[in-house]
Amino acid sequence: MLIELILMVFLPSGIFGFGKTVIVGGLFEEDDLTATAFRLSSRVLNDERHGNPELPNQFVEAQIITVNNDPYDVSQSVCALANTGVAAIFGPSNKVTARHVQNMCDTMEIPHIEARWDSRQIRGNGLLNMYPYSYTLSKIYLQLAEDFEWKTFTILYESTENLIRMHDLLKRWDRRGYTVTVRQLPEGPNYRQVLREVKMSGDPNIVLDCSIDILSEVLKQAQQVGLISDKHSFIIASLDLSTINLEPYQHGGTNLTGLRLIDPDDPVVIDTFEKHASEWGVEGPSQLTTEAALIYDSVQVFGRALKQLDDAIVADTKTSLCQNVDSWEHGSSLMNIMRSIESTGMTGLIKFDSSGYRSNFKLDLVRLDLDGLHKIGTWNKTQGISYIPKQPLFDPTAELSLRNKTFLVLIAITPPYGMLKESAREEIGNERFEGFGIDIIHELAKILGFKYIFEVQTDNVYGSKNSQTGEWNGMIKKIMEDKADLAITDLTITADRQEAVDFTMPFMNLGISILFRKPTPMGSSLFSFLMPFSNEVWMYLLGTYLVVSLLFFVAGRLCPAEWNNPYPCIEEPEELENQFSLKNAFWFTIGAIMQQGSEIAPIGMSTRMMAGSWWFFTLIIVSSYTANLAVFLVVESKQTLIKNAGDLLNNSHGIKYGAKVSGSTTDFFKATTDPIYSALNDYMQKNKKEVMPGTNDAGVQKVMHEKYAFFMESSTILYEAERKCNITQINGLLDAKGYGIAMKKNSPYRNSLSTGILKLQETGVLKELENKWWKQKRGGGACEEKSGGTSDAKPLGVANVGGVFLVLAVGVALSCIYTACELLWAVGCTSIKENVSFVDEIKEELKFVVKCSATTKPVRRRKASSHSNQSNGEDSNGASTPPYGFVPTVITTSPEEK
Ligand code: GLU
Repeated sequence: MLIELILMVFLPSGIFGFGKTVIVGGLFEEDDLTATAFRLSSRVLNDERHGNPELPNQFVEAQIITVNNDPYDVSQSVCALANTGVAAIFGPSNKVTARHVQNMCDTMEIPHIEARWDSRQIRGNGLLNMYPYSYTLSKIYLQLAEDFEWKTFTILYESTENLIRMHDLLKRWDRRGYTVTVRQLPEGPNYRQVLREVKMSGDPNIVLDCSIDILSEVLKQAQQVGLISDKHSFIIASLDLSTINLEPYQHGGTNLTGLRLIDPDDPVVIDTFEKHASEWGVEGPSQLTTEAALIYDSVQVFGRALKQLDDAIVADTKTSLCQNVDSWEHGSSLMNIMRSIESTGMTGLIKFDSSGYRSNFKLDLVRLDLDGLHKIGTWNKTQGISYIPKQPLFDPTAELSLRNKTFLVLIAITPPYGMLKESAREEIGNERFEGFGIDIIHELAKILGFKYIFEVQTDNVYGSKNSQTGEWNGMIKKIMEDKADLAITDLTITADRQEAVDFTMPFMNLGISILFRKPTPMGSSLFSFLMPFSNEVWMYLLGTYLVVSLLFFVAGRLCPAEWNNPYPCIEEPEELENQFSLKNAFWFTIGAIMQQGSEIAPIGMSTRMMAGSWWFFTLIIVSSYTANLAVFLVVESKQTLIKNAGDLLNNSHGIKYGAKVSGSTTDFFKATTDPIYSALNDYMQKNKKEVMPGTNDAGVQKVMHEKYAFFMESSTILYEAERKCNITQINGLLDAKGYGIAMKKNSPYRNSLSTGILKLQETGVLKELENKWWKQKRGGGACEEKSGGTSDAKPLGVANVGGVFLVLAVGVALSCIYTACELLWAVGCTSIKENVSFVDEIKEELKFVVKCSATTKPVRRRKASSHSNQSNGEDSNGASTPPYGFVPTVITTSPEEK
């Protein structure tokens, strides 16, 4: 710096004075964009002075001194400049040293021009500040908060000085009783603690007022703590928002609004920038800082003022002002002229009010969206904020022709949507690929006339949104960033994705299902002969056997015809015998079941009815058993481990399950509210590394070789099951969705492409392609035959054989009724013939019947009438004739007859 000062003292301009060369001093902390602007602007004054009557004739010499923050050093620099006969001093940016410079300039009456934001309300006469007035900015921020209908917000500020800009916001909202939280950012570079506190407070609205130097870091850390999300809205107080890289925050959905003084699309700005395009050191006008543009404009204002001063009086500068503690008599005139000048520069209309504050400036209201910062309105003193009406999201009239356009189409190597060709020779370009998606693009290109180049998404990630940062990955990200025009694969249309990109109408419909191994044959068992009937039926059979056997026993005892003379040759037996003892009854029924019969033959009508019913029953049951047993022996029984998603949750077979790690299936499980699916998701997330493969192919391999079920889309399951015969789809679909072609949001080609898909659908081309890639190519149809004969043997249940039980029940019931009638009839007859009481007789009979042990019955002796009765065919018991078809006749001869 010392060398610079020494040099300056001996500069010729100082010697020649105001008449030929005018010195302007620039005090800058570093040789940055502001210093460049100062240098360039002075050069423009010199270069254009001959052709522009508004510019001074004198040569303006820019003296730049790099200063530090030490007031003493800065005052030395000011003195050095003053001693050379400087006409105006520009800068510095530092608040403390700038005030020091201003005091010195006030004393020496050298115009002092600043371009920094100054919170002071009272300024010295010798100062001209180009920066918009703090109070005006404060009012704009208030209006913004009102327009956004913020009822509660947090002001995050860097230094207490910044609160001046928040003055109106603080006052107004506080009085209305709304919540305003004020938090100061710490020293830095770590701001996370306070940012985390803001996040925890749940306040969604934030006014961030900090210098551009730390803005980028604060936003980065805000994103890290999750404060930049679609739930948060920011107003950024810095006018230099556009100069930092906002790309990382573009896709998070955060409402980020700011103001800017420089409109990069303004012709004056573009023109000025392009004049020195190679010298600015930045890429475009949007990278110009407000301070640099203001310094540029201020030098231009100075030049015009100088011209006016020189035209009015023959002015000159004074040297050695500092040494002689003197003042420059024309300094205040020059300052007054500068304040009265009205011109247009990079920062718009340059005009000052009577107090020397810049008035009538215009600001742009900008908002960050998916494509970067966009102008959403303007502010000026008279009209306040006027918003640009929103453009409709999609303007159908903007539909463009696709003819001769070349699209970069993203594909993934996922069979059968996109595959590498199996070819002996090495293919190049688009020829390397084949598949369903490839053919669709080819057919669309034929209809719409576009060209295409395929690019493979090597990591096979289709696109998911990071719930914390809001950032997308995979194919969707590439489309959003314009790195590809279209994406086609098994790319599911989801609500989230639809917000980020556009989709054509679906070219395929599907839903999530389970891919699992086909049921495996059950091993043979010792008791497989029991399989033809269900357990229930076996239980019923056993019960029926017991009941019917007992009924035979009872009915046999009740039925008079079942009591027979054990020795037919004895005319008047002492007792009668009954064949239906308990043992015989059980033997008779089991004999029928086993199809073997027995020597016991029912005699009475009722027992025969019962036997008939039982034989019918056993006939049907045994036939059914034999037939079903044959099926069981022929068809291998399969063991089905899971029947639906619920079975996986409480699976006792230890089956692991998962879905493609980054895909719409996983997203479905993450978003679901169904308790079963949520529980499945918990398991999958907990065991992510083990159960969530990166590709569908890896999932299919796991299904084939491990005890693993894979949640996959039905269309792809069909494809795999056509080729790998030991895997299959389990149960139906968990949801319903479709695949579409993705393109950039608001793409003008969406309608045309959707119409193309419709045409392919209507003409049957899509169906043909589906058949080609699913059933024919690459081993399609391999499992068709096997899948044809998958009939299964099932045990017969009550529903199948219940009818036979019913028939038996009816038969047995009828025979019981008949038995009762027979008994009553016989007892009635006996009571009449024997002349005994009917009741006594029936009591006697029943008493005997319940004596279960006795299978013989003593014959009651006949009274006088017995002979005549005998000729009527009635036995000695008084019961009806034994139904053998004959009545044993006992011939008794008396000794006289002999
Ligand atoms: N189609 C899915 C997607 O678009 C990929 C496969 C899956 O998640 O099952 O993300």
